[in-house]
Amino acid sequence: MKVRALFQQTNDSGRVRCTLCPHSCILEEGKSGICRTRINIKGILHTLAYGNPCSIAIDPVEKKPLFHFLPGSDILSIATAGCNLRCQNCQNWTISQIPPTESQNYRISPDEIVELVLERSAGYNTDNGDGRVVKGKEKRDPENDKEGEIKNKAVSNTKSIAFTYTEPTVYYEYMLDVAKAAKERGVKCVIVSNGYINEGPLKELCPYLDAANIDLKCFDPLLHKKLTGGRLEPVLESLGILKDSGVWLEITNLLIPGWSDDMMVFEKMCDWLIDNGFADTPLHLSRFFPNYKLQLLSPTPESVITKAAKRARERGMKYVYTGNLCFGREENSICPKCGYLLVERSRYFLQSIQIRKEINGKSICPECGEVIPGIWF
Ligand code: SF4
Repeated sequence: MKVRALFQQTNDSGRVRCTLCPHSCILEEGKSGICRTRINIKGILHTLAYGNPCSIAIDPVEKKPLFHFLPGSDILSIATAGCNLRCQNCQNWTISQIPPTESQNYRISPDEIVELVLERSAGYNTDNGDGRVVKGKEKRDPENDKEGEIKNKAVSNTKSIAFTYTEPTVYYEYMLDVAKAAKERGVKCVIVSNGYINEGPLKELCPYLDAANIDLKCFDPLLHKKLTGGRLEPVLESLGILKDSGVWLEITNLLIPGWSDDMMVFEKMCDWLIDNGFADTPLHLSRFFPNYKLQLLSPTPESVITKAAKRARERGMKYVYTGNLCFGREENSICPKCGYLLVERSRYFLQSIQIRKEINGKSICPECGEVIPGIWF
């Protein structure tokens, strides 16, 4: 399905400028942008991604990762093909580096996406006998379904929708309509993004978002450009816009050997976060494993992740978590004031939660009364 795209500038030449992301692609007739999802058809920019997700799955919300947002709940996760960056370490390059015309897609409207959540939030058993649950929708070929199918769960705890896996910016119009439909029906929405989006589109989206995880890939501007094909500055601006808009924010930083594991650069990033009001923002430090164009690199030593977490805390980040580790994972939430164990997790799963909700709506440590930021209930 081709749908007229938002954020475009046209003129008599037949060329179109896309103003959705900082690349500002100028497209000749018939050409698509860097993201491969937006195409100039007869002088008008169209999106190829609308209503065409290639992945729909249920994940624990902790897997996004979001640790301070509806802990222990499931989240319906969707993606279309395409991305506006070219990260050399991309985990999902088989779908992020192709256009939606080359992926196997579901065809599903925004309202139908919200219905899927509501059915599952009510504990609806959508078992159709083969583990796939796209009720009433066209199913993909099971032989080729490697990911994206919605696994059956008899007991469901799905409370929200995540725009994730690839880069949601490139299916902006679809995401916006899903988020609007979700808001009308009381379903929360989350964006898991590289943050490479222009100010106007992001501000228009924010009222319909409840939470975001932004991938802060590398704090060295030159290495960021080399690693991803995009500039660092717009990502930092997006962090500020999300925070100022009241969207619950968490940040992920992947430490890649030789790219983003320099401790001086890492400390600079922590200092920037603290100076700009992000000390309370959960920071997820993630271990790299060889992937895509960085196959020949070794995985990040676990000691590097542990050291980085310690440095981040020493500099003032209050909620630091480590991911993809075999040993010594730091995935529990600890009260930064008194050290009380607030939330216990094991991998992506919630074990216990001790946070108390006050009558005034604030969530606090039951031991010392410290306010613990997040959307906990
Ligand atoms: S969203 Fe796509 S077409 Fe638009 S500027 Fe970004 S990369 Fe180019």
